[in-house]
Amino acid sequence: MKILETDFIIIGAGYAGIAAASKLHQANKNFIVLEARDRIGGRVNTQKIENSGETIDVGAQWIGPTQNLIWEWVRKHQVEVFDCYDEGKNIYHYNGKTKTYKGTIPKMNPIALIDLGIAMERLNKMSKKINLEAPWSISDAEKWDGETMETWINKNIKTKAARVAMHIGLETVFACQASEISLLHFLFYCHSGKDLDTLLGVTNGAQQALFIEGTQNLITHEAHAFKENIQLNQVVKYISQDKEKVIVKTDSLEVYARKVIVAIPPALCQKITFHPALSQRKSQLFQRMPMGAAMKCFVIYDSPFWRKDGFSGQIVSDKAPLHVSFDCSKPNGKGIILFFVEGKNARDFIELSLNERKEKVISILQSFYGNEAFNFIDYIDKCWTEEEFSGGCYAGNFTPGSWTQFGKALRTPEGNIHWAGTETATHWCGYMDGAISSGYRAAEEILNS
Ligand SMILES: Cc1cc2nc3c(=O)[nH]c(=O)nc-3n(C[C@H](O)[C@H](O)[C@H](O)COP(=O)(O)OP(=O)(O)OC[C@H]3O[C@@H](n4cnc5c(N)ncnc54)[C@H](O)[C@@H]3O)c2cc1C
Repeated sequence: MKILETDFIIIGAGYAGIAAASKLHQANKNFIVLEARDRIGGRVNTQKIENSGETIDVGAQWIGPTQNLIWEWVRKHQVEVFDCYDEGKNIYHYNGKTKTYKGTIPKMNPIALIDLGIAMERLNKMSKKINLEAPWSISDAEKWDGETMETWINKNIKTKAARVAMHIGLETVFACQASEISLLHFLFYCHSGKDLDTLLGVTNGAQQALFIEGTQNLITHEAHAFKENIQLNQVVKYISQDKEKVIVKTDSLEVYARKVIVAIPPALCQKITFHPALSQRKSQLFQRMPMGAAMKCFVIYDSPFWRKDGFSGQIVSDKAPLHVSFDCSKPNGKGIILFFVEGKNARDFIELSLNERKEKVISILQSFYGNEAFNFIDYIDKCWTEEEFSGGCYAGNFTPGSWTQFGKALRTPEGNIHWAGTETATHWCGYMDGAISSGYRAAEEILNS
């Protein structure tokens, strides 16, 4: 066992941990980052694909307007980004029929369209009432936290087509079923990223821009100045503290410091032994923030052939498990279609063989874009529920009743232990930008303490 001493320890080298480290580095502080994986980035992971030579983000990939902190990093490191392709006809497949449309809302019968529009308007209005710092404090908090999104949809959306569209939208944003989250969490999350339309949108929305060299390249640039402070392959298993110090242990390191920032998903904090035990509210909170489940399935072609027939590459379909796709091709690069599989569909889909998954994705593409869909160069998919040090994605979601009973424990330090991670963000919670702001906030807490 090697013993190290420093002033501050950061656990987790995702965007949150690296943002916290950056602040401490700027303040000339001594710190060590302990990261379980053999790489930094966490839920961000850029991979090079064998046959096509393309790099793709199997984890987080898009950034959009008002995500000011990540845009600052983009400018600072001069990494190249490009707009996600958002031209031409989107496809909406519902009840065996295929229609094309433009914009965010699919074309459906006028009654369903009005039904959906009214529901979205109501949700957006309600979400504006959420106090992002303290969602539990508003007058309707208990009522809204006691209701799942499933019951809200059943009560408030009358037509089947509008309900199906709402479920697809919700699963795309939260990577879970409507029955798994409370109305209050849904409203908080929408307001945190402005509104539901912004979370679902491409141009001017959360899916606006992509990185030429991937999102891992950006975090690698940010971490470059203090890379010697990062210890990889160090799974933190134990944290003890008294008034003066903390001791953090992995299988091979024992690190002594004044304070620690834990920047890992809340659900994974349950794997760490704390001594003395955390407050009951904090440890019960960790039991109530399960990670969502999502898979990304990429198909790579010589070129984005669907564009010549006027298609945008965006498909919304009621046919499980492949509900939503995007065109992620780089300018003048190969053609890249990305399908998402989310919530219960992801848990089922990953249990098929790779060949079965590939066949399903290609046959869906063939059904919309014709036989050229068979001429792919690469297929790659990634299921995040299989990742030991993520436990799922995109983020940990508050289950019904949790915001109101446990929310105030989310960011509150426990002695010398401070908390970061995108789940603790008020602005763009669940996104890379939220991770950065959470890291900055936690670093400021310890610098000011
Ligand atoms: C498939 C997918 C698509 C997404 N799409 C987008 C997108 O397009 N845009 C967007 O903004 N966001 C997206 N997200 C969400 C985004 O990735 C996260 O919000 C963000 O990366 C979270 O950063 P973080 O630092 O809070 O947590 P993490 O990235 O999870 O970092 C936590 C780190 O802690 C490490 N760790 C865990 N346990 C331990 C331990 N015991 N000891 C030491 N280290 C430990 C982990 O290995 C990890 O490196 C997506 C996520 C996924 C997975």
